[in-house]
Amino acid sequence: MIDAGGSATEDQSVRVYVHGGVSGRTREARDLTYAVAAAQVSSSALGAVEAAIMKLEDDPELNAGYGAVLNVAGGLELDAGIADGSTGAVGAVAGIAVRNPIRLARAVLEHTPHVLVTGQGAARLAEELGLAPLEDTTPSQRARWQESLSGKASAGDGFGAPEQVDTVGAVALDERGRLCAGSSTGGVAGQMAGRVGDSPLFGAGFYASRAVAVIGTGVGELFIETLASLRAGHLIECGVAPQQACESTLAMLGERRADAAAGLLALDDEGRVGAAYRGDSWSLAGPEGIMDAVRLELVSRR
Ligand code: ASP
Repeated sequence: MIDAGGSATEDQSVRVYVHGGVSGRTREARDLTYAVAAAQVSSSALGAVEAAIMKLEDDPELNAGYGAVLNVAGGLELDAGIADGSTGAVGAVAGIAVRNPIRLARAVLEHTPHVLVTGQGAARLAEELGLAPLEDTTPSQRARWQESLSGKASAGDGFGAPEQVDTVGAVALDERGRLCAGSSTGGVAGQMAGRVGDSPLFGAGFYASRAVAVIGTGVGELFIETLASLRAGHLIECGVAPQQACESTLAMLGERRADAAAGLLALDDEGRVGAAYRGDSWSLAGPEGIMDAVRLELVSRR
């Protein structure tokens, strides 16, 4: 049930947790309960994750869908992935420009025998589904890109600086015990054309099984090289509590790159949630409303 103000309340049929991207910038916490509330249109974990992420993709302040960051060439190349833990099915798209990439990812999962679709094939599938193309990003993302061209870099030191990352994601558990994880992003500011991050890569940026759903956010290369979401998920499958699993995996990521912003959100089949991050801000929300995560300090590169 959703109260009149649209905020999330505890007696919802699908338990959904969402995040709006970890950042190395100090940002005011953003109330994302609107996405948790929107997820209640569906009684399935898969539908709830898709609905929640579509709302986040429509939020111009978040780096996904409409608010996506531009790559160095000024192009839009968005990535998304979704996994249904109950069946083991995964769908993902990379390097595409549609308004709601998570819908396309779900279509790959449900209507193709494939896992990851890119390029012309992904564009054709989007057209067949009648998905709205993404013609441009927000004026503020365009201004940010212009500024980076002029050399007045607000985008950070080099690729993967904490100021540059962002993404959105959701995990859900429904009444039938099905778990689902989904992720969507415009990528990282300063990425070259053609770069694909972790968000559409199962086991790297997201993971789901019968026991757990995990979402990551941060420098995608770090998540790919370590299969961070799979590692956190596997710990939980072996009996570690979600909070402990997120913290341990984040500690492992920190040993590899202590200066990289990173976050992990995990939900298990008992409805236990865990969230931990390294960075300056991370907005999260769940059935109880705005949520906090355990925060570890970023270590400066300098
Ligand atoms: N992981 C995303 C990527 O590397 C960005 C992020 O989560 O902030 O594309």
